[in-house]
Amino acid sequence: MKPSIKAYTLPQLEALMRDLSQPAFRAKQLYEWLYKHGASSYDQMTNLSLQLRSALAEGYSLGSPVIQDKRTSKDGTIKYLLSYDDGVCVETVAIPSRNEERLTVCFSTQAGCTMQCAFCATGQEGLTRNLLPGEIVDQVIAVRNDIGRRVTNIVGMGQGEPFLNYDNVLAALRICNDPKALGIGARHISVSTCGIIPGIDRFSNEPEQFTLAVSLHAASQAVRDSLMPKVSSFSLDDLKNALRRYIRKTKRRVTLEYLMIKGVNDSSEDLAKVKSFCSGLLCHVNLIPINPVPGAPFKPSPQRTMNEWVSELQKSGTETTIRDSRGADVHGACGQLKNTYRRN
Ligand code: SAH
Repeated sequence: MKPSIKAYTLPQLEALMRDLSQPAFRAKQLYEWLYKHGASSYDQMTNLSLQLRSALAEGYSLGSPVIQDKRTSKDGTIKYLLSYDDGVCVETVAIPSRNEERLTVCFSTQAGCTMQCAFCATGQEGLTRNLLPGEIVDQVIAVRNDIGRRVTNIVGMGQGEPFLNYDNVLAALRICNDPKALGIGARHISVSTCGIIPGIDRFSNEPEQFTLAVSLHAASQAVRDSLMPKVSSFSLDDLKNALRRYIRKTKRRVTLEYLMIKGVNDSSEDLAKVKSFCSGLLCHVNLIPINPVPGAPFKPSPQRTMNEWVSELQKSGTETTIRDSRGADVHGACGQLKNTYRRN
């Protein structure tokens, strides 16, 4: 199979143009066709010579993802199933704000995932492959083209573990951020990790003001190990220390995501442990009622428990909100649409 042009960052396209004896500015033109205009064939790139277009077409595949399925929720959230050239599928979600000012895209970073979190539909399928930088950006472009509006915010909370595909994810974030491409402000770009510490440390050294979110889901080691078995090699103490380093270095607040699962991680003991994990951390806690996944026994905590947690955590000085979970009627939770599709 030919290599994909979607593997190339701008500096790599510049090197490619040198190899093809082309002037450097051709790289920028090609890059803008790919990531500003979202071209789906080399024929569209009319300011490149025919000869260069055919050399590129011969050497490098250029496929845009195809929308295989699309479900619109009553609340306006749209969940897409996209397929790439090789038939691999991922999920992407578009979340328009109610006043239409913002359009947020939740993108996937891997097809499948190795982490096997007990509550996650993607965890059940294993990893198929990492996504290339351009394949990640293409999810944002696919939504922009489908809805016909500028994407204002992006979050890496779809399928996969971003920090196990670090280089490609970072390259994608930079393309999304680049004014010559999608021009989405760094502060409007977030990435969520299950807690891969070397990734958190690398992320703290990036110059852009991207936002870090961490899936905490339990502040007791035993509960976390049972819910998130593959991340157990990084302990909660090590995670807290990594977050302290990140905050010291970047001066930025971290978001901690906490799925509320009835009878599993929502006792008063669990709450006390979350309070203690958050003490001294510049963080914001986002409580998320779990979306039930077929085959898993988990149910969301009652609203009353979540409200109690919000007021208790706020009292202890940690800003806490309940995520406005949207799109549940279109299989909003990670991996669910893909699995439904596969079963049908
Ligand atoms: N691997 C990364 C990003 C993908 S998961 C991470 O772990 O953060 C993105 C978010 O979706 C995580 O917070 C994850 O816990 C959440 N999620 C997974 N399954 C869910 C479910 N059944 N209901 C609600 N949220 C879920």
